[in-house]
Amino acid sequence: MKLQAATILLCCTAGLAAARAQTSAILPPDKAAAETASILSDLIKIDTQDPPGNESKVATYIASIFQRESIPYDILEPVPGRASIVARLQGTGAQKPILLLAHEDVVPVDRSHWTVDPFAAELHGEVLYGRGASDDKGPLAAHIETMLQLHRSHQHLSRDIIFLAEASEETSSPAGMQTIVDRYWPKIACEFALNEGGAAEVTNGKIPYIGIATGEKLPRAVRLTATGHSGHASVPVLDNPITHLAQAVARLAHGTPPPTSTTPPAPSSPASPPSHPQIRPLSSAISTPPRRRRSSTPPCPSSTP
Ligand SMILES: [Zn+2]
Repeated sequence: MKLQAATILLCCTAGLAAARAQTSAILPPDKAAAETASILSDLIKIDTQDPPGNESKVATYIASIFQRESIPYDILEPVPGRASIVARLQGTGAQKPILLLAHEDVVPVDRSHWTVDPFAAELHGEVLYGRGASDDKGPLAAHIETMLQLHRSHQHLSRDIIFLAEASEETSSPAGMQTIVDRYWPKIACEFALNEGGAAEVTNGKIPYIGIATGEKLPRAVRLTATGHSGHASVPVLDNPITHLAQAVARLAHGTPPPTSTTPPAPSSPASPPSHPQIRPLSSAISTPPRRRRSSTPPCPSSTP
């Protein structure tokens, strides 16, 4: 589902950019999709199981693409071997930036549960198999392609588009998002971010809906205290606190949480403009008539320790 959501973004952007292409460098949607699949395949083949992560390999790979395409970027490596990479396409500044965010690491693999090599990016029919294909290298590949296509199109943006591939999302560490926010916030300051989550779908070339995740479940630690009489371990007691605790845990496992709901906004028809206030500025950003960029930035890859 996350992959679908990211692909929707790419399709929207690539299609619009193609319609307004000012150079022949921009790829038509079918070739852009093939390029995205190729990038995704490359990303899956880079083993970034976390721990230990080794996300610098992914950052280096993305840097090579951006360098080839003359997109300026910065490597952020607060922990050796665990780099994030940030890049920016400059707009006119009429609106605040959007951040395209995805993570480089993947959860560990138990190969005994896999029928294919999880790092071979095997294509079976139209399905690509590999660790991270949907979480989160699919969205990451779509974000990379979005940057490439926007840059190639010379699309004049009403706001900056910021790209961030971040390390250490799956396990918390000093290489992760908190450190990036604390140390590099000016590089990613934005009005809002597009990240994994939500769901969208393409049906017959049309997008019937875009689902938006506004929050995620978070762990909530609870301390349970059971009491009972003390006694010798060889003599069972009826109010043994351990069995009380076991019963409490079992009730949690078998219980049904009470339903809660929030009232969603009325769905927009595919032909009407987005109704959600956070989506509307995104739509306007990619439909602004061509204007001169605020500045043309030469390629200047740099490394920030
Ligand atoms: Zn994820």
